[in-house]
Amino acid sequence: MPCDAKSVAAAVLSAADTITAHRDELVRLDQAVGDGDHGENLNRGFGFVRAALEKSIPDTPGAVLKLVATTLIAKVGGAAGPLYGTAFLRAATALGDASELTADLLVAALRAALSGVVARGKAEPGDKTMVDALTPAADATGTTIADILTAAAAAAQAGADSTVPLVARKGRASYLGERSAGHLDPGARSTALLLNAFAKAANT
Ligand SMILES: [Mg+2]
Repeated sequence: MPCDAKSVAAAVLSAADTITAHRDELVRLDQAVGDGDHGENLNRGFGFVRAALEKSIPDTPGAVLKLVATTLIAKVGGAAGPLYGTAFLRAATALGDASELTADLLVAALRAALSGVVARGKAEPGDKTMVDALTPAADATGTTIADILTAAAAAAQAGADSTVPLVARKGRASYLGERSAGHLDPGARSTALLLNAFAKAANT
């Protein structure tokens, strides 16, 4: 099945639904180590994305992701808006003006998203951030879009789970020092949720 702009937009809409469904969980996770705004910020941002895509769908997969990026950058406060905005913007740039997403373009987009987040947030693996989920996800390989996203989603969740025992070295959670250990990083969890939603959409 071709993965055109419409398919990518459908995947983004299902990711928006996933964020809404997990809003309270993300709030609780961020309350434990941060200021508790992650669930609401992300849900609000994806609400604006949903509204924009329901009005009109851009012509190419890259343009869809660029719309996601610009909306999140404009509407989401805290660290999450600029970081997710950068991830989607770099992914959009990697797709260029291709009319359809391919497995190769997807691999390039995941790697571009990771390098954008690392450049923007200056976090490394082990710092207890979304980088711990996105780094293994960007290593995912496969011959089809569905295979790659399925592997990326599983790797992202395993990476997110690996943040639990870590002491945070970046972001607001780092203010807690040792007390940040024992908690799942909210940004790593939301990264895993988004990739899982994309994988589900690709498998339907
Ligand atoms: Mg926060």
